[in-house]
Amino acid sequence: AHEPTTVTITGAGGQIGYALLFRIAAGDMLGPGRPVRLRLLEIPQGMKAAQGAALELQDCAFPLLHGVDVTDDARTAFDGTDIALLVGARPRGPGMERADLLAANAGIFGPQGAAINAGASDAVRVVVVGNPANTNALIAAASAPDVPADRFTALTRLDHNRAVGQLSERLGVRPDAIRGVAVWGNHSATQFPDVEHATVGGVPVERALADALGGQDVATRWLDDEFIPRVARRGAEIIEVRGSSSVASAANAAIEHVRDDVLGTGDDPTSAAVVSRGEYGVPEGLVCSFPVLSDGSGYRVVEGLALDERARRYVDASVAELVAERDAVRALGLV
Ligand code: NDP
Repeated sequence: AHEPTTVTITGAGGQIGYALLFRIAAGDMLGPGRPVRLRLLEIPQGMKAAQGAALELQDCAFPLLHGVDVTDDARTAFDGTDIALLVGARPRGPGMERADLLAANAGIFGPQGAAINAGASDAVRVVVVGNPANTNALIAAASAPDVPADRFTALTRLDHNRAVGQLSERLGVRPDAIRGVAVWGNHSATQFPDVEHATVGGVPVERALADALGGQDVATRWLDDEFIPRVARRGAEIIEVRGSSSVASAANAAIEHVRDDVLGTGDDPTSAAVVSRGEYGVPEGLVCSFPVLSDGSGYRVVEGLALDERARRYVDASVAELVAERDAVRALGLV
């Protein structure tokens, strides 16, 4: 039998936290054989919500749940933690400049990185969900000098899943028939959801789209003018329709991100933002989304894919935004 895995969730009293906790405790993230101990971190004004969720967790009597602690102290929350999901973040307020947003979040992710450095388990893995997720992950990693930087990742799995969902609908196939979709760059409106190497039932997606839509040009226009903006702006679409931001789909993506990181992807690549080692010309050290595989020991970038001129343009634009965010936090002395 496995020893319980300690999982820390920050912002656990928030919306995404509420959608995450019960699925993790039910075994959806680490599988039915792995008991978990949950540590819920909140800021003082979020403590009641987190404590309420802890009471409900108790009322589920999940067989895999070996305890829940609620705290507003980062050192306590990350002590001995094996897996950390950093969800709580400072949202952009009215009139807030980007530098203010980055600084406010550095005040959250810097100390959390330091607490992970001080007390987390040697094998800790961290995923940042709270936005701006890529740069928050960069700040956390920079604040944890004794933890290998590649343990810090940021979530682009929701963007990946949204891309698969759009293709599935357009082509009239089940989502699991689609493989090889990749999201590149920043988790922001500049992201590049890329189908160049994707297949549907073994056929290149671009050819299947050309067949379905009536030609290569129409297919490329659909990708540029509808698919990419729809995926990149799906969050705003959800807010418009639902009246509040995406929650269950974000929690689902975070669970799949950790599950594939820890248990492995098999030979079916997915997307995650990881620390660049210079792959595809992305400056070393940036937390950038790439196509990735994991054998269970952490995400590795899938190398050797050809990027045509169009793809290169999209990737470069999103990477330029990541560079600007990094330079802004550097100028503030935060990394
Ligand atoms: P949510 O749970 O809805 O969102 C949390 C974070 O996830 C936000 O940064 C949000 O970014 C991001 N997010 C939302 N949707 C997506 C998506 N589709 N893909 C990727 N990321 C997404 O926010 P709540 O306000 O309900 O909850 C936040 C909680 O965090 C509060 O309870 C607050 O008290 C707590 N908090 C805890 C901290 C801590 O533990 N130290 C620090 C700060 C806050 P976006 O803003 O862009 O939507």
